[in-house]
Amino acid sequence: MVTMTSAPFEYKRPETVAEASRLLSKYGGGAKLLAGGHSLVPLMKLRLASPEALIDLSGVGELKGISSSASGLSIGSMTTYHELESSADVQNAAPLLADAASQVADAQVRNFGTIGGAVSHSDPSADLPAVVLALDAVMVTGTQRARREIPVERFFRDFLTTALRTNEVLTRIDIPKLPAKTGTSYVKMANKASHYALVGVAAVVTLGAGGVCERARVALTGAGAYAMRAKRAERILVGKELTPNVIHNAAKRVGAELDGAFNEDVHASAEYREAMTQVFAERAIAAAVANSG
Ligand SMILES: Cc1cc2nc3c(=O)[nH]c(=O)nc-3n(C[C@H](O)[C@H](O)[C@H](O)COP(=O)(O)OP(=O)(O)OC[C@H]3O[C@@H](n4cnc5c(N)ncnc54)[C@H](O)[C@@H]3O)c2cc1C
Repeated sequence: MVTMTSAPFEYKRPETVAEASRLLSKYGGGAKLLAGGHSLVPLMKLRLASPEALIDLSGVGELKGISSSASGLSIGSMTTYHELESSADVQNAAPLLADAASQVADAQVRNFGTIGGAVSHSDPSADLPAVVLALDAVMVTGTQRARREIPVERFFRDFLTTALRTNEVLTRIDIPKLPAKTGTSYVKMANKASHYALVGVAAVVTLGAGGVCERARVALTGAGAYAMRAKRAERILVGKELTPNVIHNAAKRVGAELDGAFNEDVHASAEYREAMTQVFAERAIAAAVANSG
């Protein structure tokens, strides 16, 4: 029988962001922050990651809690999927986030997995990266000395790669309040076993006078190496009445930024992902328009 165990590691449990950051600096890239562990621990068991030390964030109070204000939501990075889907504040101010969180995996994963872990990991098939992109989130980080705000558009950089620096802890995800007459939707074609997105599309549309689209955000996951906005499709939507024909034309351009570089793996070919990205984009935009009232 083959057993899968991680390589030995040191275990640290800081109580502040400053202390967590100091530990990250001390190990100089050899340590990993531990949130819910539902991406990191499987990688360690497969020895695809062998950190010298794990810095467990579960004792850092600053990273917990959801607060709501007139300007929007501020969500601690250690907030679990279950807390997101069951929070009245999230359901009211960002129903897209609550709904997408409820579509992640199963109850066990949703009880452990955190929004901070999900976005920091930048898995190409994860749900929340597309959602925070569509919501124009601001990623707030902390170190021993400084606090930094990163617009989400600059956060996801590549496969499993973000703009986080070696000594930075993602502390909060701020979600600005949505304008009136804004509709949102997240739809995905889920892997039947894990529920990861083979393709997933988050859409946010704001309608103005006469039902003309004033603002559109369409973000993809599963399609390429990392989550990204479909800006060319967004431009087709803005300034027009969102008829089925306009939505269809925008959805056809949804993969334009990828320039043919769709993911290909054992679950789906690149051609299939490209076709499904268009289908799911059309559904997501149409659903966002339908609930924008
Ligand atoms: C069976 C199974 C099914 C799954 N299905 C889905 C699915 O359908 N959809 C989906 O989106 N995901 C899915 N996942 C992944 C799951 O959502 C993970 O929990 C999530 O991606 C990572 O969150 P975590 O809190 O567990 O992070 P961890 O695994 O603890 O950490 C992930 C990475 O982020 C870093 N990190 C964590 N927190 C911070 C922080 N505050 N600041 C900086 N870096 C940080 C860690 O160092 C690590 O590199 C599944 C996982 C499993 C095991």
